[in-house]
Amino acid sequence: MDFYSYVNSLKSLINLKDLLSSLGVQVNRHNMINCIAPDHEDKHPSCWVGERAYGCYSCGSHGDCFDVLRIKKGLSFKEALDYCADYAGIQRFEYHRQSEEEIKTFQEQKQRKQLLSKILAVTVQIYEQNESNYLIERGISPDIIKSLHIGATNGDKTFLKKELLKRGFKQEQFAPLLLG
Ligand SMILES: [Zn+2]
Repeated sequence: MDFYSYVNSLKSLINLKDLLSSLGVQVNRHNMINCIAPDHEDKHPSCWVGERAYGCYSCGSHGDCFDVLRIKKGLSFKEALDYCADYAGIQRFEYHRQSEEEIKTFQEQKQRKQLLSKILAVTVQIYEQNESNYLIERGISPDIIKSLHIGATNGDKTFLKKELLKRGFKQEQFAPLLLG
């Protein structure tokens, strides 16, 4: 079995909620947890958990079982892979000559996806927090603005770009999303 098929079938065997519970992370009845990303407080659970993935509405971080193990147990990707194999009760992956290359590509793709979804989440926050009376003047209530995650700028076309740069993102990172 090649590396990608192995990883995908392994992931399909692991219920993320059970894995999180086994690591002492409490999943509430709405399938929410306190965010496990290390860089923010989260007293009211703002991170959803599905069967195979989790994602935080607040900071935009998201991931899978391997990310959970990296964050909660400090495991490297390879260690997390073995941990998951043992956890699911299947054979550990047998590394071969191309494995390093495959793992590197897999992780790069994943990091790219994670960065883009983080930028999207931050973009939503930027618009939500932007003081703009335009929508209010158009008769749209603050509740609706919040629940639909909409926002407006005051006509400054470089607004988003400036805000993203201010938050440490680089233009080449958000350019693929056609932002800014
Ligand atoms: Zn978070």
